[in-house]
Amino acid sequence: MSLKNSKNQNSKKKTAKINLIIIVAVALIAIVIAFAFANNGEVATKDYEINSPARVGAVTLTVGDIKTMSDFYQKTIGFNVLKDEGERVSLTADGKNPLLILEEKKDTLDKPFGTTGLYHFALLLPDERTLGQFLIHLSDSLYLQGAADHQYSKALYLADPEGNGIEIYADIPSNEWIRDGKGGYVGGTYQLNVAELYNLAKDDEWTGLPEGTKMGHMHLQVADIEKSETFYTEVLGFDIVAKSDSHLFVSLDGYHHHIGMNTWLGKGIPSPPDNAKGLKHFNVLLTQPEWTTVKENLTKENISFNENGNEIEVNDPAGIKLHLINKYE
Ligand SMILES: [Zn+2]
Repeated sequence: MSLKNSKNQNSKKKTAKINLIIIVAVALIAIVIAFAFANNGEVATKDYEINSPARVGAVTLTVGDIKTMSDFYQKTIGFNVLKDEGERVSLTADGKNPLLILEEKKDTLDKPFGTTGLYHFALLLPDERTLGQFLIHLSDSLYLQGAADHQYSKALYLADPEGNGIEIYADIPSNEWIRDGKGGYVGGTYQLNVAELYNLAKDDEWTGLPEGTKMGHMHLQVADIEKSETFYTEVLGFDIVAKSDSHLFVSLDGYHHHIGMNTWLGKGIPSPPDNAKGLKHFNVLLTQPEWTTVKENLTKENISFNENGNEIEVNDPAGIKLHLINKYE
């Protein structure tokens, strides 16, 4: 076969793949529950610097089958193994820092529907071209569940073999995010232009998550928006960027959201049992002054926490465990 024919074949294969992607993305876009921004203007945020440090760190999942999960996160998502301790596998994108930690537990059960916990964790890729590469790579696996243009980011949605929600996304330049005039951002869920992403990356090869991948945000299923708001804003110091009766988005540094929360499964839902699969805890990265203030606030509010070196372990009002890391000196 000549080089030209081989290229044509490749291009046909890619066109077939992208057609499949479009069909899957359009058919399943309804899975992405639409959320409208309805900012009440409580807190004005500053402009976001695109190179601001990550505020969400490693996410730890309790898993039932570490082999299947570790394989999925390496082959489908593109992580590398940083440390394999048998029942605990740390996964990395840059070869230095863990982004996802899988911990196998015996006698786990599936997280019961209608309990608090993870909606999705969201891996932030460096740019839209890398997102295009991931989209083409993902079309080999049929894991894609949805795709959306949120006006400040472009996102793909999938779930791992144990049902944990994953978002893979890229931000559009922060000077193009639309302000609502009250300190929040205008966003929403619109159809993603997958052909545009495909064209950015059609000649590239996916070689795994790039070094610059960050844990961009968390989205949680909570029990009570008001209680969560008090905890994340008054105690932890986050700013509100969007809020309605059933959702709350908060951030630091003027980001569109570092932590999203919703009560789409119902208000007052219980926590899952201790041996449920799913989110075990996630890290929030704070500066020294922020960390000190948070510690004072927790004490003042009589919220129990464990301090261990530069780390505070605390449960949010939905029973979701956070590790607050004193990270940036
Ligand atoms: Zn998200």
